[in-house]
Amino acid sequence: MLDNVKILGVPFSKMNMKETVNIIVNKIDCNNQSIFNIITGNPEIVLQAQKDSQLQTIFNEADLITPDGEGIVLASKWKGQPLFERVTGVDLLLEVLKMGNERGWSFYFLGADEEVNKKATENILEEYPNIIVSGRHHGYFDNVQEEKILLDIESKRPNILIVALGAPRAEKWIYNYKHRLPVKVAFGVGGSLDIISGKTARAPQKWQQLKLEWLYRLIIQPSRLRRQMVLPIFAYKSLMEALKEKRKRV
Ligand code: UDP
Repeated sequence: MLDNVKILGVPFSKMNMKETVNIIVNKIDCNNQSIFNIITGNPEIVLQAQKDSQLQTIFNEADLITPDGEGIVLASKWKGQPLFERVTGVDLLLEVLKMGNERGWSFYFLGADEEVNKKATENILEEYPNIIVSGRHHGYFDNVQEEKILLDIESKRPNILIVALGAPRAEKWIYNYKHRLPVKVAFGVGGSLDIISGKTARAPQKWQQLKLEWLYRLIIQPSRLRRQMVLPIFAYKSLMEALKEKRKRV
């Protein structure tokens, strides 16, 4: 794993967005066929990993874990090893599409419901006409459809696999099938296709700058309350971890 800061056992990359995209460019340009698995990690998934040994293994074996969530950046500051900026799933996807548009990369979009997946792909092609969409499939599949999706990806061999199945399902899906995925880069993007399709709105820039994107999402989607209730637990645990490490140092 590259230079990182560990938060509750999860090694977060210290790279900013530009450096992260550069790593992806290098990966796609090189001849090595092994899959480069990126995880955009937020406080919720970090807490889930505390109780889920498979998720812990997935984090340990990931090639790059980016800080998706203000809580992660804050926790890194408490540790005295501040991360430079958030690298969220949706922002990373947009940056990678931009780079892919310049370089003619191919993509496979897996996840979200059929309407969202189709509309998001159309919008992406409109905005980034030089990328190749090797394939796409919605994320509500049974075992038979899943096998067809895997065969489809195996035959199309896209440069990048985008998985929008929600966290941690996307991360587990990539991990479980990585031996069958002939792609150079794969990462989960949560609800990004919903945003790109126009089904859900992203927090306006002002809210993002004020670090209140989580509050905006809660207001437009109150059903997220249960998920976001874990944020204070994450804050408490990561603060305790930082204090413990500080005590050890003095
Ligand atoms: N999803 C899916 N299949 C499932 C469950 C979820 O394709 O079985 C999709 C869902 O339609 C949505 C995304 O996964 O597009 C999850 O979005 P969510 O807002 O939960 O993700 P977050 O950004 O919070 O990680």
